[in-house]
Amino acid sequence: MEQRPATAPPAVRLSSVTRSFGRSAGAVTALDDVSLTIPAGTFTAVMGPSGSGKSTLLQCTAGLDRPTSGQILLGDTDLTGLSERKLTLLRRDRIGFVFQAFNLLPSLTAAQNVALPLRLAGRRPKRSEVRDVLEQVGLAGRAGHRPAELSGGQQQRVALARALVTRPEVLFGDEPTGALDSQTGREVLALLRSMADRGRTVIMVTHDPVAASYADRVLFLADGSVRDELYGPTAGQIAARMTARVVAAC
Ligand code: ADP
Ligand code: MG
Repeated sequence: MEQRPATAPPAVRLSSVTRSFGRSAGAVTALDDVSLTIPAGTFTAVMGPSGSGKSTLLQCTAGLDRPTSGQILLGDTDLTGLSERKLTLLRRDRIGFVFQAFNLLPSLTAAQNVALPLRLAGRRPKRSEVRDVLEQVGLAGRAGHRPAELSGGQQQRVALARALVTRPEVLFGDEPTGALDSQTGREVLALLRSMADRGRTVIMVTHDPVAASYADRVLFLADGSVRDELYGPTAGQIAARMTARVVAAC
C-alpha cells in the first residue's frame, strides 16, 4: 500500500496535547506536545517502548483522561471543553474500548455482556442488534455461553462485540491481542481490519510488529512524542524501524 493521503474527514484531531502527572521535581510528562490527525475509517497502530505514553494517548483521546493542555477533537466535538457528565455520555455513545484483559462479567452470558452498554444507556436492547454484532465477530452460536465457557479469543471477540454494539465512531484497543496466542490474536486483528474497511476508525496500541502490520499507519512514540510513522507497512518494515530506533537511542 502506498502512502495514503488524508482525504477522509478527520475522526480525531490532537493539537499540542500535553499530559503531565505530578508536580515540580517528581513530574512526569507522559505526552509532550502531541499534534496528530487520524482520518475516519482508518486503522492506526501506536507503538513505542514501555512508558512512552501509548496508554495515556489512548486514554486522553477516548475521553477517559484529560490532557493538562492542548485540544482533542472527536469529529467536531472538543473533548477538552466538556463537563464530566457530557464526557461520560460521549464515551458511552461515541467511543468503544477493548483492553488486554477482556473485562467481561463472569455471571452474564455473551449476549448479556454485549447488551450491557445499551442497558447502561437506559435502552432496552433489541435481540437483533445483539445478535447482529455477535454475528459480526463470528460468535452467533455462542450467545448463551458464559465467559468461562469460551476460549480467550472468543472472550475478546465478545468484548469487541460489546464495544461495537453502540456503533461507536472510534474503536480503541490497548494491546487487545496482548493476552492471546498468535493465531487467536490474528483472528481478532482480522476483525479490527474489517471494521476499518467498513468505515470504522480503529486505534490500537501494540508491541507486536505483526499486529501493527494490519494497520494503515503505524505511529512510533518515544518519551511522550510521536517520533516516526509508517504507512501501509509490512511486519518486517515495522520490526526494522523498531530496531533502528533502539539502536539510535543507544
Ligand atoms: P505506555 O502505555 O507507553 O507504557 P503510559 O502512557 O502508561 O505508557 O505512561 C507514560 C508515562 O506516564 C510513564 O512514565 C508512566 O509512569 C506515567 N504515568 C501514566 N499514568 C500515570 C498516572 N496515573 N500517574 C502518574 N504517572 C503516570
Ligand atoms: Mg500502556
